[in-house]
Order: sequence, then C-alpha cells, then structure tokens
Amino acid sequence: MHHVEASELENQKRLFGTNGIRGLVNKELTPEFTARIAASIGTFFGHGQLLLGYDGRTSNIMLANAVSSGLVSTGCDVHDAGMAPTPCIQYAVKNHRMDGGVMITASHNPAEYNGIKVFGNDGVEISRPQEIKIENIFFGNQMRCVEWRDVGHVHVLSQTLDEYKRAVKEHVDIDAIRKKHYHVVVDPANGVGSLVTPYMLSELGCQVTTINANIDGTFPSRPPEPKPENLQDLVAAMKAIRADVGVAFDGDADRSIFVDETGEIQWGDRTFALIERDFLQTDRGTRIVTPVSSSQVIKDIAEEYGGKLVWTKVGSTVVSYTMKKLRAKLGGEENGGVFYGPHQPVRDGAMTTALILNIMAKTEQNLSQILNELPRYYLEKDKIECPNEKKQRVLEELIAEVRHLNPETVDGVKLWFAEKSAILIRPSGTEPIYRFYAEAKVKEEASALVREYKGKLHQIINS
Ligand code: MG
Repeated sequence: MHHVEASELENQKRLFGTNGIRGLVNKELTPEFTARIAASIGTFFGHGQLLLGYDGRTSNIMLANAVSSGLVSTGCDVHDAGMAPTPCIQYAVKNHRMDGGVMITASHNPAEYNGIKVFGNDGVEISRPQEIKIENIFFGNQMRCVEWRDVGHVHVLSQTLDEYKRAVKEHVDIDAIRKKHYHVVVDPANGVGSLVTPYMLSELGCQVTTINANIDGTFPSRPPEPKPENLQDLVAAMKAIRADVGVAFDGDADRSIFVDETGEIQWGDRTFALIERDFLQTDRGTRIVTPVSSSQVIKDIAEEYGGKLVWTKVGSTVVSYTMKKLRAKLGGEENGGVFYGPHQPVRDGAMTTALILNIMAKTEQNLSQILNELPRYYLEKDKIECPNEKKQRVLEELIAEVRHLNPETVDGVKLWFAEKSAILIRPSGTEPIYRFYAEAKVKEEASALVREYKGKLHQIINS
C-alpha cells in the first residue's frame, strides 16, 4: 500500500466544488479516500439502487471499484453501467428508475485529474444543500456500516449506451437527416464520446470520420477541453475532407463545439443560438435559461422570436436547477453546453449534435449559411487585479453606481446599452481579479466599454 497523506480536499472541510468532487489521482483522490466518500454518498441515499458510470481516464476502474465498495458497504445496490458519457449515465438513472447515480469523471480537466459527480433520481446533479449533507456525513464520520448479511450487491447494466442513443434519436426527424447523407467528422478527444455519437450518426445515415476516437486516458492527441486552440486537428480534417460538419467533445461528452463546412470553429453561443431559434419557431414564448456570461446573440434571438430569457449565475448545475424550477425546456452555455429539456435538462453532446443535424436537414442549408444569418458580435476581454477581501465592497459600489442602467446582478454586473452592446463585470471565483467581457457590433465599441468600466473599477478598488 502507498502512504496516504490527508488530502487537500479533506483539509478544506469541503468536498464538492462547482462541478462535483475533483482532485489529482492518488494525491487527492486515493482509493481509500474515494471509498469513504462513496460510503458517505451511500449513507445519504439510504438503502438505494444506485447507477455507476465512468469516463475513459486511467484511474477509472481503480476509482469505480473504490466507489462500488464504499456504496455496497452502506447497504446500497450498485448497477454498474461501465464506461459511458456523463449524459448517458444521467439518462440511465432516470430511465432505469434508480434512486441516484455516481459518475466518475473530471470532464475537461487535464489527464492527471479525476472526479465524482452525484445525481439524484432524475439524473440531475444533486443540490448544494444535499452536497452539504454528504460532507457532514463524511467529516462527522457518520457513514453507515451495515452487518455482513446486509452488504449491497453489484449488478452489471449493459444496455445503457444503446438506450441512450435511441432516446436521443427520438427527438429528431430521422428520415429527414438520413436523406441528406451528411459527412460528419467527430473528435471525442480520446474520451467516452467515442462510444455513442459516431454510431448514432451512422444510424442517422451519415458518413462518419473519426479522429481521436480510441479511448485513451492519457489524452495523447489533444487536451480534453474543446477550446479553439485544441481543435486544430479537427479544423485540418474538415478542410482536407470537406465534410459537412465537424464536432468536438470534452472528455465526458456533455459539451460539444462545432466546425462548419468551411473549417471555421463556431463557438458554443452561436450553435446554441441556432438551436434556440429553431426551438422558438415551434414553441414561441417559451423560457430560455442561460448564464449571464452568454452572448448578446442569445438575447437577440429571444427578442426576435418571442422567447423569455432567464439569466442565471455561471455554472451548469444552476442552469439545470433553474430549468427544473421553471419547467423551462431549453438552456445553454457559451462553452458548448446545451440543455434540451424534452430529452433531459442537462448538458448533452450527442443530443446537441443530433439537433444541429436536424436543423441543417430542416432548413436544407449548410451549417455556415445558417450560422451566417445570426448577428455577429465582437468580444473584448480584460481583467483587473482586486484583492479578494475587497471584492464584495467593490461589487456593491459598482452596483450602486450603475443602478440607473438597470443592471442584472445575479452574478457580477451585466449591463446592456443601445446599439446592442453589453458588458459583464464579474469577480473571479478563484483568483484575486475582476474580469470584463464586452460585446458590440463594432470592435472599437467593445474596447471602449472595457476601457470605461476598467477605469471605473480602478477608482472603486482604490477608493
Ligand atoms: Mg464535461
């Protein structure tokens, strides 16, 4: 056995971050620590039926076995669905009427990380108050340890990938897509996206070319975050093959970023706007849930097609929760997370891919043509240093100063101006800085907005 030191996560007295529990493999997330977390999760769920899944990282089986051990030690039964995308596991929790689920993934983080996400019986990540219950069980050492005769069972659940694929396809016009024989290039970053979308696309009559589609937890081809600088292989493949669409996933295939047939990367807010427009054309007046960090283009489409925008804090779980609370059917993030409520109110890369093809087939246009119909904005980013202890006062003073401009203050300060420009001023959650994101139809206008508000903030910080 290796020597285990109290991990960072334990010392902080908090396990869950904004996206579940994340840590360095065998430094923070050791088998021992993971089994104790799992016993806390099992205690929280009572004697429940829990689904277990994992992504393609090198520590997946090690941590899955630790989670499994911890869960059955509390009397829960484990249904092991194996390697799968996160949205597939979330769908399976609901579809198999489980009491909850655990996914072992570090999403888009580098290869040396792994993590644990916990889902409720509807497949949505548990809420912060529920996470606190699990943390209290963990730090209070109150894991239930059942008698020998009551140890839970581990079952293998083998059909979840097929069931998920079928469920996604139910939401699109299969015949219309099949007739088009689209050529699609898929780049799953050597992650679990390899297990679903390429096969689903074949079933939709597409010609499929994959790159980086052998599962490899060392991520040998590109980092698992689908940022433009990581998508150069996909862009090159699109230009060489002249396919109709390219799609790249993050490591657990809940986020998807598209490349059009000209080889241009289309950022997540643009593809989300496309889905938003299509959705509002048939379901006018519906609510669209999106974080304040989303582009102006989302607001333009909502205004043009009668959608009601609901702004949230930045983060995928808060979008899911807001959708559930308001019974909203569509949500989206600028980073390529689309939440399609009729399927499930969580980010889902395979669902997003199917929706984009559905829109292409319906409009009978190339992806670049449809996207060119959307308004274009220039984005300017900047930051300013601000000590953490000053952040709250700075925020309050900024809000007071801009009150006449009717700010949205759910997360930082967002302001909209005439000529459709906007700025978001937001304190970083991890660094002693404030960030600025300005958008305008003209580049100079976006830069001017950043300059103006950077000046204002500079004054407030130093006052
Ligand atoms: Mg992810």
